Amino acid sequence: MARKHSKRDPYGDLDREEGVPEPEVLCWLCGRPTAKNIIWHHPVPKSRGGRDVVPMHPICQQTLITNFTNSELQRHGMDVDGLLANPTVRKFVDWVANKDPDFTATIAKKKR
Ligand SMILES: [Zn+2]
Repeated sequence: MARKHSKRDPYGDLDREEGVPEPEVLCWLCGRPTAKNIIWHHPVPKSRGGRDVVPMHPICQQTLITNFTNSELQRHGMDVDGLLANPTVRKFVDWVANKDPDFTATIAKKKR
């Protein structure tokens, strides 16, 4: 009686080593994978003592700093849902969802 091979495919195992994709870094705001340009954003502004950083698309960070003051960002902190509750941010995330990860656009900065 022939001995049963192990369920593992020996060749498949070997190939797996090479084809391992980089772990995806997902954008904190929009949840899409980041591309070449990853911004390490401080949810709590550095000037307000924030130490944690989260990966973001440049365009997503741009949207945050355009729509929120430092005080507001500090108040929300790591609570991305609070930021997404903002209609402008919500609209942006829905809009950017189908864009290329490397997509950037110039967002006019609101005068403060
Ligand atoms: Zn993003």
